[in-house]
Amino acid sequence: MSQKNLYIYNSLTSSKEEFKSLRNNSVGMYVCGPTVYSDVHLGNCRTFISFDVIYRYLKHLGYNVRYVRNITDVGHLEDTGEDKISKKAKVEQLEPMEIAQKYTNSFREILKKFNVLDPSIEPTASGHITEQISIIEDLIHKNLAYVSNGSVYFDISNYNDIDSYGKLSGRGLDDIKSNSRDLISQDDKKNEFDFALWKKAEKNHLMRWNSPWGEGFPGWHLECTAMSKKYLGDEFDIHGGGIDLKFPHHDCEIAQCVGHTGKQPAKFWMHANMLTLNNKKMSKSTGNNILPNELFSGNNEQFSKPYDPNIVRFFFLQANYRSELDISESAIQASEKGFNRLIEIINRLSLVKTVKTKNDKLLDTIKKWENNCYDCLNDDFNTPMLLAEIFNSNKIINDIENDVTKISQVEKDYFINLFDIFLNKILGLNFKKDKINNDSVLEILLKLRDNARKHKDFKLSDSIRDELAKIGINLNDKD
Ligand code: AMP
Ligand code: ZN
Repeated sequence: MSQKNLYIYNSLTSSKEEFKSLRNNSVGMYVCGPTVYSDVHLGNCRTFISFDVIYRYLKHLGYNVRYVRNITDVGHLEDTGEDKISKKAKVEQLEPMEIAQKYTNSFREILKKFNVLDPSIEPTASGHITEQISIIEDLIHKNLAYVSNGSVYFDISNYNDIDSYGKLSGRGLDDIKSNSRDLISQDDKKNEFDFALWKKAEKNHLMRWNSPWGEGFPGWHLECTAMSKKYLGDEFDIHGGGIDLKFPHHDCEIAQCVGHTGKQPAKFWMHANMLTLNNKKMSKSTGNNILPNELFSGNNEQFSKPYDPNIVRFFFLQANYRSELDISESAIQASEKGFNRLIEIINRLSLVKTVKTKNDKLLDTIKKWENNCYDCLNDDFNTPMLLAEIFNSNKIINDIENDVTKISQVEKDYFINLFDIFLNKILGLNFKKDKINNDSVLEILLKLRDNARKHKDFKLSDSIRDELAKIGINLNDKD
């Protein structure tokens, strides 16, 4: 494995910094999870897949990672002030917690299809009301929050770090003031840019808890502060989410944490860029979205056929997680071709004939290639560069096939194992299923085809060749 160091782009400093974990070999990572009031769309999935690769790579480097990804089941409001989950509960005539459970289940199902690993802890906002209340009490005590008409607001003007409020998103206070979108209870606030820590529940509000300020529910930003602090401590290594969460969500989290503990909560803030559809942000609320199952089943009018989750995952990883990415059928089809080419490379490698003598020179070449692959990952998890590097292995395989280089079982095993590490373990692409398990079947087919050719049964031999080509295995007949 490469001894070189990992560099991560830190949104807080807008630069790539060398990653050193805060506590020896352990890494604490918090990623904002979904608001479970409807099915996740492909954009949401892209963000969770980006962090899945980050999680997998940190684990691969030997870190003991505690990965906390929450479920927002309360507190995320519409612009009108209505809780998203309560609103959906009324529409579907279900209990709000039934809505939360239903969409939590479907979220987990979809991420499984995408081969996303489970986090270490998946806490819910509604399960941490006491923790949120105690942070609010502390902020009131520190004069950083005030009660107004049954709600509690964070007092930006009393915040010592007022100059740095908005630092993450790069927004000045004036900009924040003019964009303050909290349309409800503006009158309750001292300043229009103060944000809610606790909201008073109006008569018909379904989700409500007792608090020292009357019945209400917590503000959205507070839940992540309460849960990250509880499971990762006042200071932890990485806080992530989609880039659209920088403001207000993450800037507010920083203000609450700094006010409450005196410490900047996360050393690295990481933001995954948006998936767009027709060059507009994919979004639940605007309806400009595609649901993963629509794509997997071919049930979307913008796509002519079904696409496997593996292909979609591959498509996402062909773009840098910090770049915007537009999804379209032609882009997915290009990825499908690329994916099949990769399968073909691995198939060809598994079929090369070995010799008895070890080839140290070839092993060095393979190790050089391995290092190049690690360099890509160490450069802020650069998956498109890694995939390009993996395609470069084609040159090495060509030389072996053309007898320019001999390969023994030792180098062959080492080489195949690297594909397993990079493609399966780190990128989470299911290559084994497609290929290695099929090796023996493939061998039988090739023998049958050789036999058919010997007996001049070209109809059979050609049809075997054509069928294999359809699944990306191209045979080069030299004679
Ligand atoms: P939400 O359920 O809306 O809270 O979003 C869950 C996660 O998906 C958050 O990290 C969002 O930043 C992220 N997200 C939302 N829309 C997109 C998108 N179009 N592309 C990528 N990530 C997104
Ligand atoms: Zn959050």
